[in-house]
Amino acid sequence: MRQYPLEKYRNIGIIAHIDAGKTTVSERVLFYTGVSHKIGEVHEGEAIMDWMEQEKERGITITAAATTCFWMPTYRRPQNYADLTRTDAEEIKKKYEHRINIIDTPGHIDFTVEVQRSLRVLDAAVVIFDGVAGVEPQSETVWHQADKFKVPRICFINKLDRIGANFEKSFLSIQERLNPNAIVVQIPIGLEANFEGIIDLLAMKAFYFEGDRGEKIIEKEIPNELKVQSEKLKVLLIEKISETDEKLTQKYLEGKEISFEELKQAMRKATINSQLVPVFCGSALKNKGVQLMLDAVLDYLPSPLDLKEIKPIEGAHPKTEEKINRQPADNEPLAALAFKIATDPYVGSLTFVRVYSGVLKRGSYVLNSSKGNQERIGRIVRMHANQREEVEEMYAGDLGAAVGLKGTSTGDTLCDPGNPIVLEKIIFPEPVISVRIEPKTKADQEKLGFALHRLSEEDPTFRISGDPDTGETIISGMGELHLEIIIDRAKREFGVEADIGRPQVAYKETVNAESEAEGRYIKQSGGRGQYGHVWLNVKSLERGKGFVFVNKIKGGIIPQEFIPAVEKGVKEALSKGILAGYPIVDIEVKLYDGSFHEVDSSEIAFKIAGAMAFLEAAKRAKPVILEPVMKIQVIAPLEFLGDVTGDLNAKRGRIENISDRVNIKVIDVKVSLAEMFGYATKLRSMTQGRGTFTMEFDHYEEVPSNIAQLIIEGKK
Ligand code: GDP
Repeated sequence: MRQYPLEKYRNIGIIAHIDAGKTTVSERVLFYTGVSHKIGEVHEGEAIMDWMEQEKERGITITAAATTCFWMPTYRRPQNYADLTRTDAEEIKKKYEHRINIIDTPGHIDFTVEVQRSLRVLDAAVVIFDGVAGVEPQSETVWHQADKFKVPRICFINKLDRIGANFEKSFLSIQERLNPNAIVVQIPIGLEANFEGIIDLLAMKAFYFEGDRGEKIIEKEIPNELKVQSEKLKVLLIEKISETDEKLTQKYLEGKEISFEELKQAMRKATINSQLVPVFCGSALKNKGVQLMLDAVLDYLPSPLDLKEIKPIEGAHPKTEEKINRQPADNEPLAALAFKIATDPYVGSLTFVRVYSGVLKRGSYVLNSSKGNQERIGRIVRMHANQREEVEEMYAGDLGAAVGLKGTSTGDTLCDPGNPIVLEKIIFPEPVISVRIEPKTKADQEKLGFALHRLSEEDPTFRISGDPDTGETIISGMGELHLEIIIDRAKREFGVEADIGRPQVAYKETVNAESEAEGRYIKQSGGRGQYGHVWLNVKSLERGKGFVFVNKIKGGIIPQEFIPAVEKGVKEALSKGILAGYPIVDIEVKLYDGSFHEVDSSEIAFKIAGAMAFLEAAKRAKPVILEPVMKIQVIAPLEFLGDVTGDLNAKRGRIENISDRVNIKVIDVKVSLAEMFGYATKLRSMTQGRGTFTMEFDHYEEVPSNIAQLIIEGKK
């Protein structure tokens, strides 16, 4: 039985720059929602959300778990709520309590994959800012990603108790750098050590927080010294809200009173449509404002039902590719997306899914339509921060985890076998960096393969390959930190000791021209011979197109049965490269001529002929090496600008923009990944520790010929 109607669901993410206070806010949320009865402070290493060992140590959250909690708006709780009889209290709860599923999102960009997959499955987000620093580079990156996924948002300016906190400046940084439609809904009463409470401009009331953890909210009149400012800001707020709604605009222009409820409803609609971004404030550490922020989650962020138009549930039939739309309802056929695979020390492998339509039942068989295999749903668990609850069913809009699925990876669709659908895929970036990994002992060797395989199932941006020449294992990922963490996890969770080599750039090769070549593999001396003969044409494709094989053989000059063998031969050759052994990408290979022998032709002969023709043709088609180019933002005090830009120029960096922020310079630049190893240390020493930077993959591009030569000679 469904406990909460769908309109009382909120599937949200809490997004923040590292250190803005996401963990602290999450902790408070779990405490106030009654899931957590103990507030674990981050510095004590007790954070409940951060259940992975190494997250505690690093102090950053790198996994995206879905946590369920429940919330009833504070303004719906009668004064005597605590004294009500159980039945009366239940009655009120039934009316007003909502289910909030929190999808954890990391702040570090080396974990793009975590950010992307969580943005894919959440309906809305709370973005947290440090009230001293305002918008920081990574919040900018994640903000733009959230724009791409059309995620409705509210903002929470945190840490207003800190020395140097400035609500107005932080708000302006949001408005100027992220979204001009950000609007102030709350303002702080006092700042830094004097930060006492919060004024809500819609309600025109002041709120103070008492009790050990601020759980008791006291409502008062707005203090005199803030009355004028509040009035002014309220007018602005009403104006902004009215602009988003025709009826309210009319009323506003006619000077008519607009009711509190009308304003709230309009702001809800505008927030869901991303026309407005309401901004709230507080201090999670000092237990101020988080409960009101939770009220705002219910008041202004969408339930799955509100997203029917903005983000309809769309997919395609796995065979016919016909477009299919689903409604967020239990009576629709099942469609669910696996968005994370995690290993739990107690129950084993957990596949986190979001159910978009229909019901996922324990013990049922479902179709993994992305892979074409069947899965039996064993146990289903719902995560409540540090504990799990076993459930029989998950309904439309629910998030939870299935235990022990064997053939499902991140991004796969699980659906009703009778009504197959593949939901829109999560697109993951290709890895850009790799290192050799060498097990320390024979025993480690055996465990290593297993550990890496498990970790790669969890994380689609992490890949394993073997070096065909040396037999060594190579792992690839999105950045130095990404691989470091993976190696760390292999050690901690699987007990594997391994040495690693220097990080290497994941170069690729491609061709710049069109050319043709013949491949003949013919042996006819004694016994049964070999006969494979093909003509291939190769030409370059646009970046990112990968590999396309075209078969233009007519009239059976090569029998159909040998064609796949030719393609296989080409593919094998592709993976080995022509210049420096890197995989060849963005290339079309056309098979257009050849011949065969009635007796001697075989698949193996055509495979070899295919590879030979391909290598020859590719060599003639102006092969080049491609390298990953990263988008980087460096932030440094003005006095170091010269040194920093000079160094970036020496790294072949293309500076695209230099802008000012108070006393600091922000440099946007594109630099080859190869030049960026160890940059964190270098920047630190260049700027006396005051410079910071963020980096993400941007695109692949041809390397200059002098550097290509070094790569070919193995010197780079
Ligand atoms: P995360 O990296 O975004 O998860 O941030 P954390 O929650 O780990 O917070 C980073 C640091 O800021 C920790 O030392 C917190 O105790 C501290 N912090 C979090 N919220 C507040 C706040 O409201 N006020 C102050 N002064 N410190 C805070």
